[in-house]
Amino acid sequence: MGASVPGRASTNEAGIECDVVVVGAGFGGLYALHRMREIGLAVRGIEAAPDVGGTWYWNRYPGARCDVPSLFYSYSWSPELRREWRWTNRYAGQEEILNYARFAADRLDLRRLIQFDTRVAGATFDEPTARWVVETDRGDRLRARFVIMATGGLSVPNTPDIPGVADFAGEIYHTARWPQEPVDFEGKRVGIIGTGSSGVQAIPMIAKAARQLVVFQRTPNFSVPAHNRPLTDEDHRGFDDGLDSYLSSLEQSDFGRVPPTAFTAEVPPRDVQWARYEQLWREGGSGGFLKAFPNILVHPDVNEVCADFVRQKIRETVKDPKTAETLSPSGYPFGVKRLCVDTDYFDTYNRPNVELVNLREEPIEKITANAVDTAARHFDLDALVFATGFDAVTGALLAVDIRGREGATLKDAWSEGPRTYLGLTVAGFPNLFTITGPGSPSVIGNVITNCEYHVDWIAECLTHMRRHDLATIEPDGEAQIAWGRHVAEVADRTLFPKANSWYLGVNIPGKPRVFMPYIGEGYRTTCKEIVADGYRGFRFGGSTRALGEAGK
Ligand code: NAP
Repeated sequence: MGASVPGRASTNEAGIECDVVVVGAGFGGLYALHRMREIGLAVRGIEAAPDVGGTWYWNRYPGARCDVPSLFYSYSWSPELRREWRWTNRYAGQEEILNYARFAADRLDLRRLIQFDTRVAGATFDEPTARWVVETDRGDRLRARFVIMATGGLSVPNTPDIPGVADFAGEIYHTARWPQEPVDFEGKRVGIIGTGSSGVQAIPMIAKAARQLVVFQRTPNFSVPAHNRPLTDEDHRGFDDGLDSYLSSLEQSDFGRVPPTAFTAEVPPRDVQWARYEQLWREGGSGGFLKAFPNILVHPDVNEVCADFVRQKIRETVKDPKTAETLSPSGYPFGVKRLCVDTDYFDTYNRPNVELVNLREEPIEKITANAVDTAARHFDLDALVFATGFDAVTGALLAVDIRGREGATLKDAWSEGPRTYLGLTVAGFPNLFTITGPGSPSVIGNVITNCEYHVDWIAECLTHMRRHDLATIEPDGEAQIAWGRHVAEVADRTLFPKANSWYLGVNIPGKPRVFMPYIGEGYRTTCKEIVADGYRGFRFGGSTRALGEAGK
């Protein structure tokens, strides 16, 4: 390989030499490859899938669709890409989003930087040379000064260990590992476990195709209608006209959709709230609800009115009162588990071929070769779908055997929950960056713009290091502790910790209960100030002349 060509790695007997290894070719990874090459670094991407797209490559279950408006769920950094790509729908389907990722990869000529069908197994920091040694499941060995983990917050599927699951002889699927080839449910009895965003999208589609659909629900979820529709020229014009103010709003309030976390005591009258929710229900989408009132995710009394409103809508939609009751979320606040956005979800339970099973009343006891047995009943099934979510935010990072200074493992460092500085870096793991890592806005709001922000921050940081001839960067332990405390304090000021959500890791047995995303205001401002203050809380080390000249 031409080592002197910016962005290209070189190969020798010891393996592949480069400046940066980027793990993952979803939206974060693709942009990281582009930016690292742009600033003149030799960069190499490793991706487990045979194609780009990350979570949108794998989650091709029926009904898979974005719940952020597509015009916003796009790279904001490139006017060219924006001009050349035209979204068709208010909420794009999985295939269209995957095609967008492919389009971006081709347009930016990124594929030649990526090794596909390859999983990173381990990464070890070699202290004497200040280089990461990255090993893959195909036996590759890469040496790089920096590793960027763009592994995604929702990429490791969670398949609960239900007794007998391995005995099931029918078709078995996970929404997050859906097959490439079409799945035909026609004439079949299908069971689905899980009613989070994936289940809520898949259930109406599978119900239309299958002879019978049995939904095994443990916790009912709040869901609001998408009212998806084709985008018009006017929508596109409106977006273009408002783009600058949208981008500057991101600068100020960072992750856009979640309202301020400051507690305000005012409780608007119930009828005022109700009228607002009626309007939002007609408009569709989650964004309006989550910021309907500034304290909706903070003040229990405000929140409860919205919860009541959604429960009322469920009762109005679902004809059977017992089913409506079972579908009605209670005991946790509205919007603090990820709010689902659906098309005909509640109405689907009016279909004669759909049955809802309340696992709180009759838990699953076992799965057999052709059935699911609950404590009360036996359900014969031809196919079983797991819509059981992910080992979120930390799962993909801990799936790699990452070893930092003195061989310390990330697994040990995070045994009581993730510890990061800004969700970007980890003490004791120099030159390792996490895109949308725990302790950053990560999975809250618009993940694509969150990814862009992190990539740009890293690009600026590496440019700074090159300019000042610095070999390593890592956070100070004290700064990391203070940041972790701040992330938790901010979450504790809200209603978020009051629900057993994957934000807290409670969906994974044994995972420490730690609120992982940062939901405070001013994240970007804080990151900027830290840089302006000479990278406050970071330690730089060593000196190198090799950065940007890998393999020379
Ligand atoms: P999820 O929100 O974690 O939902 C998993 C579901 O499986 C929950 O209903 C959960 O019940 C259930 N479950 C898990 N283990 C179970 C068990 N042992 N027995 C019975 N039920 C069990 O996962 P998801 O639906 O895949 O969504 C995850 C996230 O991905 C979303 O919150 C969203 O951020 C993202 N996503 C986005 C979109 C979109 O853009 N539209 C679509 C899909 C996913 P409990 O609640 O009781 O644990």
